[in-house]
Amino acid sequence: MAQAPSHPAKTAVIAIGGNSLITDKDHQDVASQFNAVRETCKHIADMIERGWNVIITHGNGPQVGFILRRNELAAHEVHITPLDVIGADTQGSIGYMISQALDNEFTKRGIQRSVAAVVTQVLVDRNDPGFKNPTKGIGGFTDEASARQFEAQGWTVREDAGRGWRRMIASPQPLRIIELDAIKTLVANGFIVVGVGGGGIPVVQDEDGMLKGVFAVIDKDRASALLAAEMKVDLFLISTAVEKVALNYKKPNQVWLDRMTLSEAKQYYAEGHFLSGSMGPKVEAMIAFLEANPQGKGLITDPQHIVDALDGKTGTWIVADA
Ligand code: ADP
Ligand code: MG
Repeated sequence: MAQAPSHPAKTAVIAIGGNSLITDKDHQDVASQFNAVRETCKHIADMIERGWNVIITHGNGPQVGFILRRNELAAHEVHITPLDVIGADTQGSIGYMISQALDNEFTKRGIQRSVAAVVTQVLVDRNDPGFKNPTKGIGGFTDEASARQFEAQGWTVREDAGRGWRRMIASPQPLRIIELDAIKTLVANGFIVVGVGGGGIPVVQDEDGMLKGVFAVIDKDRASALLAAEMKVDLFLISTAVEKVALNYKKPNQVWLDRMTLSEAKQYYAEGHFLSGSMGPKVEAMIAFLEANPQGKGLITDPQHIVDALDGKTGTWIVADA
């Protein structure tokens, strides 16, 4: 049985990014992914040792890509796995790695806590504008004949600027976390929860309330913000590949930010300081979290600097306006 901490702890949602799973192109295999997870989990365990309750979310983009490729190569022999089930597969495999890495850190440190990874569905609107015009390419490029086969399985396919045919998916807004009550119950009982992996498995609901998986991918930063807001956590921490967020990123006049208010975050976002597809969704997620939960705090840093950032020494803090 998990033990609730003996003193009233603060709770954080920590969204761990791709760099906590794949550090670089030469370290994509499972053993390397496990090592990267172990490294990040040390820093998360440090945080727990300091009295934090944590709920962990994670990305799954490259892992989904590998499984799609495996499907293609094996299609002559083994059935194809639909995208929603691939999402569930990756929540299971990555949830397993995080659970075991944390369990082992706890054993080393004599911490009495248990981890539970929750396979999580996230409701999206089947009329989300994203479905009319899917913009996110997924998997490799193929010829038209193969693309038409994907189409027959329910995918949207498109010829991409002369580079070949590609499967395109929507990135709809997350509306509701189906397993939210389960996550709340586990957290209230002292479990460290891993959830909403890869942004959650996107599902839609029909008139009779029945759920069904859809061909889509939910942005993991957006889904993590929804979880953080629903859980009314004290801290929403996005752990990524940079220690701090910058203005004029990679330009001669680049400035690293220690702190920005909600209004400043909106202003900088509008001014285009945060690239779409990388830092953009993170700052957007912070804005959504703080708007729903003004008493909470946001933090963006890398795994190595989590503890120093919590001590106020580094990272970029995002806070409500004074
Ligand atoms: P994750 O896998 O954690 O989601 P991403 O690669 O999607 O990571 O986003 C993090 C990356 O965003 C950083 O590694 C950095 O290259 C990029 N980035 C874009 N704009 C900025 C910015 N203004 N400040 C800092 N990093 C930025
Ligand atoms: Mg990202």
